[in-house]
Amino acid sequence: MIVHISEIFSKKMENKEVTVRGWIYRHRTSGNMVFAVLRDGSGIIQATVKKDKVDEKSWNESNEVYVESSAIISGKVVKDERAPGGYELKVSKFETVYKGEPFPISKDLSDEFLLDVRHLWLRSQKLTKIFEGRSHIVNYLREFFSKEEFYELPPPILTKSACEGGSTLFELDYFGDKAYLSQSGQLYAEAYIYSLEKVYVLAPSFRAEKSRTIRHLAEYWHLEPEMAWYDHKMNMELQEKMVEYVAQKMVKNHPELLKEVGREPGELAKVKAPFKRIDYEKAVDMVNELGGKMKHGEDFGADEEAVLTKDFEKPVFVHHFPKEIKAFYMPEDPKKPGYVLCDDLLAPQGHGEIIGGSERIWKLDELMQRIEENNLNPKDYQWYIDLRKYGSVPHSGFGLGIERLVKYFLNLDHIRDTIPFPRTITRCYP
Ligand code: ATP
Ligand code: MN
Repeated sequence: MIVHISEIFSKKMENKEVTVRGWIYRHRTSGNMVFAVLRDGSGIIQATVKKDKVDEKSWNESNEVYVESSAIISGKVVKDERAPGGYELKVSKFETVYKGEPFPISKDLSDEFLLDVRHLWLRSQKLTKIFEGRSHIVNYLREFFSKEEFYELPPPILTKSACEGGSTLFELDYFGDKAYLSQSGQLYAEAYIYSLEKVYVLAPSFRAEKSRTIRHLAEYWHLEPEMAWYDHKMNMELQEKMVEYVAQKMVKNHPELLKEVGREPGELAKVKAPFKRIDYEKAVDMVNELGGKMKHGEDFGADEEAVLTKDFEKPVFVHHFPKEIKAFYMPEDPKKPGYVLCDDLLAPQGHGEIIGGSERIWKLDELMQRIEENNLNPKDYQWYIDLRKYGSVPHSGFGLGIERLVKYFLNLDHIRDTIPFPRTITRCYP
């Protein structure tokens, strides 16, 4: 019977004859014994081969394999306290599927080397768990939005408009014309609300970020919901409900995975709505009281966010930023001139910003005025301006960085480990 390794442990298959398929994870020979650890997508198990218990072909092949050779192994499941997971396979048949060449990755290699061989390093236990976790997180996000009756639509990736400002755009040649890789699908998502009302886009965003940080990628996955009739308050409530939903699903369904990657499930269990809401000006004062140095009117950097969230066990909202440091499409609060109806959601423990959201200006005059104040060329935004001419309605939305959320939930040190092939200022290979 062919089984996945995890089933051997979960279904208590003691004394059963099973066959497992996978890759050699560790390998050691000693006299008339071979100790091999096999891994598959679900876990690892030790297999011991005794010379007098197998045919000659099995014995030879089990001796000659390399780490990462592929193999099919049959044997009896027996209890063994010393083996990882408490069970091992007493091998009756060992078949090498593909021997290949000696694997170039061994212990104690530099981060840079491991990034050079990322296509092979993806097989490591740590990255395997992380990407399993990432996949669950993305599934739960989609599940959440489906329950909330949102529609998912794709945004274009090749665009003419510079959404978040020109400095971090990747430019390309579009049949002899200039175009850019999209930095955000938001403006397009706004076009979708006039028909489907509650929508989201999930697509890569590209930012030529010049700074080298542990939370910026040049290519990242961006989830951007946009909702007709939602105001600032409803927008924040949706964000916290979404973050809570995914956190609780991870704690309930994948506590072992969380532990293995270094996140205490108990910490994530505390991620429940409501999250604290702090006014921008108050937040700046708090940073300064807690020993940070920040001027009013400045944006929070990674250090300031870490200081601000250090006493919190769950994410916090900072809202009402000065309009000068936020995007042109965010409306001023009529009750607080000079400040816009926006929020950033900051994760604790140094993880920092995971979401940026706001109401969107929906009145034509106001939009034209802000485009002018920001020295933008209305021509570049003609289609977006058009949306305010026909049946405009109040609406809100936000942008969640998938990799930022994964980094936070799985408690990873660096954003590059949240995505299989990270693109950064110094790396676009493999
Ligand atoms: P930051 O201040 O951290 O650079 P931002 O203000 O540029 O973020 P937005 O333009 O509001 O971010 O983008 C929305 C979300 O996209 C952010 O909250 C974050 O989760 C994510 N994000 C932004 N830039 C990057 C990046 N370079 N790499 C990964 N995720 C990013
Ligand atoms: Mn940025």
